[in-house]
Amino acid sequence: MTNTDTADVVSTIRQVAALARAGSELVRVTVNTEEAAAAVPHIVDGLERANVQVPLVGDFHYNGHLLLAKHPACARALAKYRINPGNVGGKRHDANFRAIIEIALANQKPVRIGVNWGSLDQALLTQMMDDNAALAQPLDARDVTLSAMVESALRSAAFAESIGLGHDCMVLSAKVSGVQDLVEVYRRLAACCDYPLHLGLTEAGLGMKGIVASTAALSILVQEGIGDTIRVSLTPEPGGDRAEEVRVAQQVLQSLGLRSFTPQVSSCPGCGRTTSTFFQEMAQQIERYLRDQMPVWRERHPGVEELRVAVMGCVVNGPGESKHAHIGISLPGTFEEPVAPVYVDGKLRVTLRGERLVDEFLLLLDEYVDSHYPSAAVSTP
Ligand code: SF4
Repeated sequence: MTNTDTADVVSTIRQVAALARAGSELVRVTVNTEEAAAAVPHIVDGLERANVQVPLVGDFHYNGHLLLAKHPACARALAKYRINPGNVGGKRHDANFRAIIEIALANQKPVRIGVNWGSLDQALLTQMMDDNAALAQPLDARDVTLSAMVESALRSAAFAESIGLGHDCMVLSAKVSGVQDLVEVYRRLAACCDYPLHLGLTEAGLGMKGIVASTAALSILVQEGIGDTIRVSLTPEPGGDRAEEVRVAQQVLQSLGLRSFTPQVSSCPGCGRTTSTFFQEMAQQIERYLRDQMPVWRERHPGVEELRVAVMGCVVNGPGESKHAHIGISLPGTFEEPVAPVYVDGKLRVTLRGERLVDEFLLLLDEYVDSHYPSAAVSTP
């Protein structure tokens, strides 16, 4: 999801393009004001002109019914609408919800019904809490809240279907910020419906905490076969790279062996046998090189995302791990002879030495990619 002001067409196009280049297959933008709604068609046009092909989802809260009605070009340009049933408009909830669904129907757009526990339908929650309190053995508040989230999503979906939206035109989500809560709510949702589910740990947080919590939650669910799209919601560092959340989401799926997005580098943690930082720097350089090459390689060398590279610190596990990779290098540990054998498809290919070792290894890497992932025809504008 972008974090630019959607009314700022140039910045939003730039960020959507960056997210798409990083591999995002769906990008959501906030549509919160008249200006944002008016900007959406220009953003979609700009992306088309830049040959960026990624569906744009509009995120609506409170005034989606008004904005979509007043800006038909926005309603047409978006690929999907996200509605939060908790933020559709209090007493006018049903009428506003209906208005959005009717616009989706008129434009043949799918809808994501996105429940979030931070903005859960308060009328529904109060009702369910009251019903629970009247039970002989009431459930705890967490349990009732999770049930209310599932109920909110399912009731909204049923209501949308009663208005005419197809069963196959909806995606549901129920986001919370706790790992165990997320796992529980999605297990319940998956057990009682067959709608596609969009997963995401909401407000996952900053840096490592956000990455680890998102990975833990998403991994459990996708391993169980739950979830059809995923999003990682990281709080960015000031001026940080928004595409980080795309890379984390990809890495979760690739580490689980479900999808491949980018070549993977195995590198050892190092130990007392590696007293210099050389191999750490080399692993970093190779990782960076692969990332930089991917936008071009993805087009030119189909299948390259399956490539496995090893960068190892010494002779103990170096040759073995390198042989398991497609191409691997085993660097010399402390007190070892300063030579670095390179293995290609399990066989010793060459032994490198000297200051140009990294450059020479990168050349071998290029050679491997060229020979093992033959060039596909690349269309030029
Ligand atoms: S491969 Fe060598 S340097 Fe790396 S962790 Fe193992 S023993 Fe240590």
